[in-house]
Amino acid sequence: MKVIATLAELQSSLKPLKTSGLKIALVPTMGALHQGHLSLIAEAQKLAEVVVCSIFVNPTQFTDPKDLEKYPRPLEHDIKMLNEAGCNFVFMPSVKEMYPGYPKPESWKIDLGEAEFVLEGEFRKGHYQGVTQIVYKLFDAVKPDVAMFGQKDFQQVLMIKNMVEALGLDVQIAVCPIIREADGLAMSSRNIHLSQADREHALALSKALFYIEANYKRLDLSQLLENAKAMINQMPGVELDYLTIANGDTLRPITEKTHQNTVALVAAKVGQTRLIDNVIIK
Ligand code: AMP
Repeated sequence: MKVIATLAELQSSLKPLKTSGLKIALVPTMGALHQGHLSLIAEAQKLAEVVVCSIFVNPTQFTDPKDLEKYPRPLEHDIKMLNEAGCNFVFMPSVKEMYPGYPKPESWKIDLGEAEFVLEGEFRKGHYQGVTQIVYKLFDAVKPDVAMFGQKDFQQVLMIKNMVEALGLDVQIAVCPIIREADGLAMSSRNIHLSQADREHALALSKALFYIEANYKRLDLSQLLENAKAMINQMPGVELDYLTIANGDTLRPITEKTHQNTVALVAAKVGQTRLIDNVIIK
């Protein structure tokens, strides 16, 4: 596996591979890798001959400077994991490499549709402009045939797909299922910030989602939400931002049950750590 820090080296390394017709998959991450990330690498290996994983804690998508500062960066460990997983390239640029004028903002504003402003977009203003800005730069540098994203960040997938459509980009977006701990907690780089007590309380999020999934046919929507919210609110130290049963295309709450693209999404602060999770209702 080759570790690369500059755009120039990335492009010159990939060029001969592209010329010889090999398919390239990109797995964008912010590092602090876990089995969820590795599942994206494994899926990428099925879809392409060359797998590039990027590790970049993108400052433009953080709304809270403290959150950016404390984001975990175990780089040596990440490199070891990617090496063992058989990844071909890891791209870990500096902030200046990706944003030469940083901290002066670069202009970037694209129309991601109404769904940009709800849920995460409401609690983290400008978040998806930052996400799409860096993903566009990575697409532009790697020119992947396919790019891998996790359903864990459901709204992010929608925003990326909207960007690809809006800008007419020639890249396939592959979405991978959520990898969970044995007890149901969705894996996340932020989980290492959870104290032992937080870790137990955080289980209320996935339990509430599983409750909605299991009782979707039996109970009406308001009852489902009321009971699931109560499961979360009764946990000490857990502060709910939102819990919703939404249309997966618009992210608007559904008002009637349907079997088409319905998703339950949750975000909450557990102790000092903000977590998100979701379940697609089948
Ligand atoms: P991150 O490093 O948190 O930005 O995540 C990088 C990619 O991994 C994103 O596409 C995430 O949706 C995906 N991802 C994060 N956690 C999980 C998980 N538990 N299961 C599957 N994919 C995940």
